[in-house]
Amino acid sequence: MDQRKGGDRNANGGLAEATASRLRFDSDEEPEAEEEMGMEVEESPDAEGEEEVIGSDKTSADYYFDSYSHFGIHEEMLKDVVRTKSYQNVITQNGFLFKDKIVLDVGAGTGILSLFCVKAGAKHVYAIECSQMADMAKEIVKANGYSDVITVIKGKVEEIELPVPKVDVIISEWMGYFLLFENMLNTVLYARDKWLADGGVVLPDKASLHLTAIEDAEYKEDKIAFWDNVYGFDMSCIKKQAMMEPLVDTVDANQIVTNCQLLKTMDISKMTPGDASFTVPFKLVAERNDYIHALVAYFNVSFTKCHKMMGFSTGPRSKATHWKQTVLYLEDVITICQGETLMGSMTVTPNKKNPRDIDIKLKYSINGHRCQVSRTQYYKMR
Ligand code: SAH
Repeated sequence: MDQRKGGDRNANGGLAEATASRLRFDSDEEPEAEEEMGMEVEESPDAEGEEEVIGSDKTSADYYFDSYSHFGIHEEMLKDVVRTKSYQNVITQNGFLFKDKIVLDVGAGTGILSLFCVKAGAKHVYAIECSQMADMAKEIVKANGYSDVITVIKGKVEEIELPVPKVDVIISEWMGYFLLFENMLNTVLYARDKWLADGGVVLPDKASLHLTAIEDAEYKEDKIAFWDNVYGFDMSCIKKQAMMEPLVDTVDANQIVTNCQLLKTMDISKMTPGDASFTVPFKLVAERNDYIHALVAYFNVSFTKCHKMMGFSTGPRSKATHWKQTVLYLEDVITICQGETLMGSMTVTPNKKNPRDIDIKLKYSINGHRCQVSRTQYYKMR
């Protein structure tokens, strides 16, 4: 899962340097049975006992609820100022959404969003967190003197009991790579349907997925063609797998060859889990003569219930975030002339075996002066 740590090919933001990835798959993860063990044990790669190595039958689901127990991933998220400052600004600059309200923080982590909410005047915040970090969140809440207004509940949203029947506000930072990886969105929708009062708000309430095309000869060579000749040996069988794994990495804005197209908008306050599976068409028009090596997907989120609309973008023209962008390499190198169109469609579906993973089907074609191609490619985010 190294690809999620990304390369540092473009030092276009401090976060490109970040070492922790949003989901940790390191083999020092504790198996579930050992969840109750102390912190020291969890962090030690040499922990004794039944150390499990991730085998081929394991999916990210087996480690998902443990990956957030380590502080490193929370450090990375908190230091992502685009992300954390956006939430802080939304909450503290829109007191009217929080004043005297009952708030539910879905996936509270360190409790940072709950803390912002009480500062903004919330009457009470219920902070649900399933990882071991819930214990830290409890301590953090206490250390800051908010134990009477923030209740940290350790457990899965889908399994816990909430002390109140309804809440006025649901806040969550659920977005994964490619927006939907991790599929925590379903957890937010579950909480919304179960606890949100009539007229209540979900924050953020809009998320959109976007697509563009880039020139990326150098890096494609380094990541894909590399396998053709490794110290004189043909390892090209790995190339097929490398092609299938979307690469999470930062893309430089000047690599962009076409327009950026909106693929899909999701209304978190209304959508159903099924809306996270979709097929959408795209039409990317070249803004210059160039080669296209990959398509790049990224997402924006917005908080439309604020005084003035607020939100942030994880696109290549915006300040880098820990989500970076998601690069889908194309089999063909496409030669495109200014004004020509690369058209196609993208199908996104949660993996049947593990719904936290994503299957992507990409169809594309171009009928240009220099290049005629029509192809379908499959990708898996694991
Ligand atoms: N709100 C925090 C953490 C966001 S990361 C912040 O903004 O910094 C998402 C968090 O949700 C992780 O800590 C993860 O452990 C938690 N989480 C994911 N699925 C969950 C579920 N089903 N129930 C409870 N917590 C969940």
